[in-house]
Amino acid sequence: SKAKPQRVAIVTGAASGIGQALAVAYAQIGVAVVGGYFPGDPHDPAETERAVREAGGECVMHAVNVTSADEVEAFAQVAVDRFGRLDYAVANAGLLRQAALTEMRDEQWLEMLDVDLSGVMRTFRAAARHIEDHGAMVAISSIAGGVYGWEQHAHYSAAKAGVPGLCRAVAMELAPRGVRCNAVIPGLIETPQSLDAVNSLGPEGLREAARAIPLQRVGRPSEIATLIRFLTSDDASYITGQSIIADGGLTVR
Ligand code: NAD
Repeated sequence: SKAKPQRVAIVTGAASGIGQALAVAYAQIGVAVVGGYFPGDPHDPAETERAVREAGGECVMHAVNVTSADEVEAFAQVAVDRFGRLDYAVANAGLLRQAALTEMRDEQWLEMLDVDLSGVMRTFRAAARHIEDHGAMVAISSIAGGVYGWEQHAHYSAAKAGVPGLCRAVAMELAPRGVRCNAVIPGLIETPQSLDAVNSLGPEGLREAARAIPLQRVGRPSEIATLIRFLTSDDASYITGQSIIADGGLTVR
């Protein structure tokens, strides 16, 4: 019997948090990863490469700012140049910032939309040029965009609310090629980004936030990574245009 061809994924924002956990989750099933890292970010991309190697997988980290169309095009091309194909595209890179409506400068609003919404479009656009038939795409929304109101986060919430709509349109457009596109909507997951936000509430912040969650704990990055991995896999071969919430029950209460 012939071995299945290797699958290859691009993942933006892979130097930390959910993106890093996804690179490791892909390594566990033999999917090769081209991971994006943001040069301005303090996280060392070599850590993701090391974690993937320990899990027995293959990973190449590549600098990419998702606000640059040219950089995102070059990033997707790395998958083809290094591994000869592209099967999965995960638009995970994102910013989280706080700003009261009356204090919000246009530059803050536009920067947020540029990274958290336009960055998803650029990643999908670049991937669509290369992705194999029966490939799959996933973007990360948030309960703050999906269902939940979050004061002082109008820019973040608007950008994240745009993600499921973008994914539905892309799902329709690529369906004739057999390419699927879905969004995941995480609740509170313990990553550098959310710890920054929660820590601004004080050291008790995380424990207090956890008590409000029906499952009584914040989520682990791996719990979002395995959802993304499922949605890109052939196990989800009939799921497209959907947005799936993983929040420990927070938005059900
Ligand atoms: P994180 O900060 O660890 O990861 C975000 C990554 O995006 C970082 O590695 C960062 O370098 C990268 N990034 C930021 N700006 C970029 C840019 N312009 N170009 C390229 N990369 C850039 O936090 P995380 O929680 O793992 O975030 C992953 C995704 O999950 C984000 O889209 C985030 O909004 C979303 N999310 C997280 C939570 C949570 O509770 N942690 C909840 C809902 C949604």
